[in-house]
Amino acid sequence: MCRRLLMSAKNALSVRGRNTVAERDAVAAALPADAVGFDSIAVRAGQRRTAEGEHSEPLFLSSSYVFASAREAAARFADEEEGNVYSRYTNPTVRAFEERLAALEGAEEGVATASGMAAITTLCMALLQSGDHIVCSRSVFGATLVLLRKHLARFGVTVDFVALTELSSWEAAIHPGQTKLLFLETPSNPMGEIADIGALAELAHDHGAWLVVDNCFCTPALQQPLSLGADLVVHSATKYIDGHGRCLGGMVLGRSEQMTMLRAFLRAAGSSMSPFNAWVFSSGLSTLRLRMEAYSRNADRLACWLLRQEQVEQVFYPGLEDHPGHQLAARQQSGFGGVLAFNVSGGRERAWTFIDAVELLSRTANFGDVKSTIVHPATTTHAKLSPSERSAAGIGEGLIRIAAGLEDADDLIRDLQRGFAALG
Ligand SMILES: *Cc1c(COP(=O)(O)O)cnc(C)c1O
Repeated sequence: MCRRLLMSAKNALSVRGRNTVAERDAVAAALPADAVGFDSIAVRAGQRRTAEGEHSEPLFLSSSYVFASAREAAARFADEEEGNVYSRYTNPTVRAFEERLAALEGAEEGVATASGMAAITTLCMALLQSGDHIVCSRSVFGATLVLLRKHLARFGVTVDFVALTELSSWEAAIHPGQTKLLFLETPSNPMGEIADIGALAELAHDHGAWLVVDNCFCTPALQQPLSLGADLVVHSATKYIDGHGRCLGGMVLGRSEQMTMLRAFLRAAGSSMSPFNAWVFSSGLSTLRLRMEAYSRNADRLACWLLRQEQVEQVFYPGLEDHPGHQLAARQQSGFGGVLAFNVSGGRERAWTFIDAVELLSRTANFGDVKSTIVHPATTTHAKLSPSERSAAGIGEGLIRIAAGLEDADDLIRDLQRGFAALG
């Protein structure tokens, strides 16, 4: 009996590439088939329960796994039998996180990586080859720009950058037969521009390409790109999924045959997710929707308050009715997110004075934390862009970005008042 229990626990945990029947049973035990709500999935999907009967998610800190016999070892190395071999390949805690986020994004599978950038690198290296072409929004994460423009170019993959919201520029930039990926973030950082995911997916498919959406700013709690037609989703779990600014991680999500290619590359390349980080991210997912709603509520309060301040020239937040992406965001997102930006008159010096005067918000470039953050994009997150690229993206010297955390909005407003007081 005891031995049988152990055997079934062992089977339940043996994962390699895809789920065994025993493992699917273990997952089903954690989440009945009729529990289909986002929060139920966020709290329970993917969990393995070992023979110990633990209620919380187990953390498997093990670099390698023991074989019952030399024959079993040979079978696993030959890929004839499923089961863990080494944590660069598979780890039960990482797999649990992959399954939970895949369920939330409505993806067949997800492949976890050591960081958000490792996710984008893995996607490109696994799915592209020399001669391929990417059309990318010019409003993407700085390291994504550098990766695509500088590093992929050395391997013969070329890229053209286009304005996120101009469908006709996307179409004009496609090289028929050569363009394999359209890549974007929506909403964009820090201006909150919104791309029409459905329209761009259609454009990609008309040309035999795939649409990749970096869903970092919304997370599946506010936007599910695959359901809108996108082919692949990438995440930096470092941001809202962790939600507390502790761990780096990322994931690519999509169809099983795509993920098989990614896993094969990742095993060789080695940028796998740490099981500890996966364990942290799984609990981050449990509170994701509640937090995304709270971030959105705080950001909305701040945006509306900033609009009324004399020294503010403009506020950029997709939740504001006069934001150019407002209607589209209202259609394809279930909330407007936690990031907003605003311009103060007088350029860099006054923007820096404002930022230096706050005492509650953290001066840091990160976002997606329970703690609110404030940053000057032109000299930090977007410093690597040329002045003309920055002005094309609308990022002026007077622009300040705020990522709302979960502090009380009244306290955040009192803190921002210190900034305006310093401006005189
Ligand atoms: C932070 C970020 C990344 C990169 O993620 P890391 O975990 O820092 O590697 C990619 N895309 C977006 C939109 C990000 O904000």
